[in-house]
Amino acid sequence: MNSLATYRAKRDFSRTREPAGSPPRRPRRAAPQFVIQKHAASHLHFDFRLELDGVLKSWAVPKGIPTRQGDRRLAVEVEDHPLEYGRFEGNIPAGSYGGGTVQLWDRGRYEIPDPAPAKAWRRGKLSFVLHGKKLRGHWTLVRTRSGDAAKPAWLLIKTEESLPALSVNVEARSALSGKTLAEISRGRKIWKSSRPAAWEQGAASRGSAPGSFKARIQALAARRRPAP
Ligand code: MN
Repeated sequence: MNSLATYRAKRDFSRTREPAGSPPRRPRRAAPQFVIQKHAASHLHFDFRLELDGVLKSWAVPKGIPTRQGDRRLAVEVEDHPLEYGRFEGNIPAGSYGGGTVQLWDRGRYEIPDPAPAKAWRRGKLSFVLHGKKLRGHWTLVRTRSGDAAKPAWLLIKTEESLPALSVNVEARSALSGKTLAEISRGRKIWKSSRPAAWEQGAASRGSAPGSFKARIQALAARRRPAP
């Protein structure tokens, strides 16, 4: 089965500028790529992706990537993405799947000591070393028994060492363009829908709509900032 079928079924490529993606490629011998995208959609989350089996295996990490040794965060497995997605930064039209703004938060190569990474992934335990622009070091992904079949719940665990905190500026900016989420969202193409997007409905029903998309992203970013 083409593991990108779900990815394609969820998206209308005449509306979104996300890549349709070429077929899964034969795994390369060179160090595979990883990418972390910050995604301001119905809620702000991080998308963590590891190149494996010719695609990007993907997890949504609602609370961000752990950086202190022993910290663990929920990572919900989502559909495989094409390798080209590792270069995607931009806006997904409101009303489309994942509508909102995507920032390429970090990327680089990663190493996996296991000689059979695809098998380790299927068994549900994957240890690796990231060599990114922002994140470098050891992490482990472990599948848990919770979550449903389509969205298995994993834990992303920081192992081996703690990392120094990133500066607010580095944390806020793209590893690709240097732009903040607000700056990326400003360049968006607007696709008009007859229905408001989910986040617009959500904000309206909470009675706290901050007015503009930019304001909402800034509010989300502020909420994510760790307590001093
Ligand atoms: Mn996402």
